Amino acid sequence: MKEALYKKLGLVNTREMFKGAINGGYAIPAYNFNNMEQLQAIIGACAETNSPVIIQVSSGARKYANQTMLRYMAEGAVQMARKDFKSNIPIVLHLDHGDTYELCVSCIESGFSSVMIDGSAHPYEENIALTKKVVDYAHQYDVTVEGELGVLAGIEDDVKAETHTYTDPKQVQDFVGKTGVDSLAISIGTSHGAYKFKPGQPVPPLRFDILKEIEKKLPGFPIVLHGSSSVPQEYVQMVNKYGGAMKDAVGVPEEQLREATKSAVCKINIDSDGRLVVTGVIRKVFVEKPAEFDPRKYLGPAREELKKLLIHKNQNVLGSAGKA
Ligand SMILES: [Zn+2]
Repeated sequence: MKEALYKKLGLVNTREMFKGAINGGYAIPAYNFNNMEQLQAIIGACAETNSPVIIQVSSGARKYANQTMLRYMAEGAVQMARKDFKSNIPIVLHLDHGDTYELCVSCIESGFSSVMIDGSAHPYEENIALTKKVVDYAHQYDVTVEGELGVLAGIEDDVKAETHTYTDPKQVQDFVGKTGVDSLAISIGTSHGAYKFKPGQPVPPLRFDILKEIEKKLPGFPIVLHGSSSVPQEYVQMVNKYGGAMKDAVGVPEEQLREATKSAVCKINIDSDGRLVVTGVIRKVFVEKPAEFDPRKYLGPAREELKKLLIHKNQNVLGSAGKA
């Protein structure tokens, strides 16, 4: 095993975390960040609820925040948890939707403990070849790898698709066997972004039948759900009340996610909900205190509200509270 930078930073890979999640019937929160306030809210919420956590960045976030800055932010997050919050929660730094081998290598070199290689837009055989190449590199450093089969609809940073392609349960054993991935993201009806379903129509339930088939083929294997924001309507209304225009935003009901955590689903990605809260609170401050021009006066309350939401997710949706 080659020496991995992430271990020096105090990070862990996903292996033990996922074992605990599968055996315990809960899911690890995977929260995206690209600025300081989001990261503080995530670490604060997870330390307070004693929850393991995956902090993740997309390639878009890496471009936005600067890759060097991000690496030190992650290190700072670990130090803040240990020193200031006296918390030993395990923390994973994960690349969300890596699309090339080179990007995954670059992240591993800069201290990531887990990477996703998303080859789902490629033909099946190419997805296998790309994923295996990343796994072979990552495993030399004991970095864990998430692959993806099936395509989620919606838009998230650089990831775009018009419609779902559900994961084909007949492919999963072959894919996992040939690539050696440590976890698998699947498509069963969640989608990226804040506009997941058609307005005015009942939200279609997640395809638990497909999930069950996949579990039968891969007993005990860690499954990942992307695009799992619930788009709380109170925050949509807050955005709209204070001058926003997020008509028809709707997400995956929390009860369905709660049900999914009891299965082999052991990582649930939530990004849009955090964006929504932050935007709602900032809009409110701007309308109520138009003379305010200190960024701390609107980013601070946004951070507080985000922390509250994440505590709720850990306690009531993912079941990860108290599992660190
Ligand atoms: Zn995703």
